[in-house]
Amino acid sequence: MRYLSTRGGDPASAAEAIVRGISPSGGLYVPESYPTIEWNNGVRGGYLATAHRVMQAYLPETDAGELMRMIKSAYQSFDHAEVTPLVKLKDREHVLELWHGPTMAFKDVALQMLPHLMQSSLRQTGETKQVYILVATSGDTGKAALEGFRDVEGTRVLVFYPYGGVSEVQRLQMVTQEGKNLDVCAVHGNFDDAQTGVKQIFASKQIAADLAEKGWRLSSANSINFGRLLPQIVYYFTSYETLLDRGEIQPGEPVNFCVPTGNFGDILAGEYARRMGLPVHKLICASNRNNVLTDFFARGVYDGNRPFYQSMSCSIDILISSNLERLLFELANRDDALVREWMRDLKEKGMYALPQRALDALKRTFCAGWCTEEDTLETIKRTFDQTGYLMDPHTAVAQCVYERYAERTGDNTKTILLSTANPYKFASDVLGAFEPAGDDDFANAERLNAITGTQIPNGMRALLGKPERHMDVCMLDEMPKRVLSPVLNQA
Ligand SMILES: *Cc1c(COP(=O)(O)O)cnc(C)c1O
Repeated sequence: MRYLSTRGGDPASAAEAIVRGISPSGGLYVPESYPTIEWNNGVRGGYLATAHRVMQAYLPETDAGELMRMIKSAYQSFDHAEVTPLVKLKDREHVLELWHGPTMAFKDVALQMLPHLMQSSLRQTGETKQVYILVATSGDTGKAALEGFRDVEGTRVLVFYPYGGVSEVQRLQMVTQEGKNLDVCAVHGNFDDAQTGVKQIFASKQIAADLAEKGWRLSSANSINFGRLLPQIVYYFTSYETLLDRGEIQPGEPVNFCVPTGNFGDILAGEYARRMGLPVHKLICASNRNNVLTDFFARGVYDGNRPFYQSMSCSIDILISSNLERLLFELANRDDALVREWMRDLKEKGMYALPQRALDALKRTFCAGWCTEEDTLETIKRTFDQTGYLMDPHTAVAQCVYERYAERTGDNTKTILLSTANPYKFASDVLGAFEPAGDDDFANAERLNAITGTQIPNGMRALLGKPERHMDVCMLDEMPKRVLSPVLNQA
């Protein structure tokens, strides 16, 4: 199986695509074809077996036994036997909980697996350098990358997060991190600044040369890496198989998935599952006030020239949704020249427009909606009152957008909502749906527990006693130095 770049250039093997993260032309790697696999009539062999079938189809060069060992090792850190359990919410609504990994958010599904894929890919490509992974995070990716790459031989991770721009739980999760190959630094600036800083470091030939001399190469654990997308295709299959298992659907019956979307990685994995033969009716893209994607799916115009809002569902606060480029490549019938043109428009004018025929194709599978902060809180409260299920703000965005979609269209297809974080990770905002909340995340978690009777996750309690180890703060222009110094100073 070869991988093509959305912006042209030589194809790569799966291993090369994973080691590089991004193609030399600046494009994202996509598989040259979508392997079809049979969904099982029920989850035979559980999550791990389905994970193996899905990932092996994209990684034919990886030894089957080795792949199974990697999968077992990745998902043993999850606190649920089904890895991503499916909970019935209402008659036709089911919630797929993707947050049972060590950091309590869905990034773990991919970032527990990526280090294994990275190591195996390094062996396959014969890479002799060690891999230095840079991460800019708005909160969830940073911790998940640290946890995933902790003490992984031949790798080192440096996470930059916006100083004062993450929740207290998210900050503590990162600054208390143990592991000899891990480093965390706050940056004076917002997330976009940190992200731009990292992109500039990736683009610098001088930094690459300095690192290469010391035996290092840079790579990315961001969702532009195909190795992060791949593990996410799995739960679309397992959740479908679980519905079959429970007699909720008939074999072949299409279902909807509704996904709170930021960088478009999670929902794109659903599109890949559909192309692989999974019966999907609609993929519903849910956004908060940062509704650039809602407009795109309605009019075919992507317009990033708009204000950026901070919201409770902060992991989907976004203006530029990078993984959309992989979908554009398909809409362009894989014409990389057309993709380059759209991306140039995006860079120069902050926007691009699809031709009508591409918009029509898009609308056959996708639809989109958004909701406000008030809607989010109201949905958390109302859903809890009606069903006893407590959801985090991202999941609530999906729930609210889905309810309006169902009402508007009358579509009564069975629907799976992707739940991307444990509600306690955003305890203060979630408590705010029930009563005015104070500033202390931990006191708010205790209060939420008292009101709702839901459990405070052990991972949250454990944070309180841990020493803070990573207290560094730097200015934006110091980021390159911060990347280089630990490596240049090593013996
Ligand atoms: C990253 C994240 C998302 C968005 O996922 P994308 O793949 O970027 O669309 C949604 N919810 C939570 C809690 C996240 O951490």
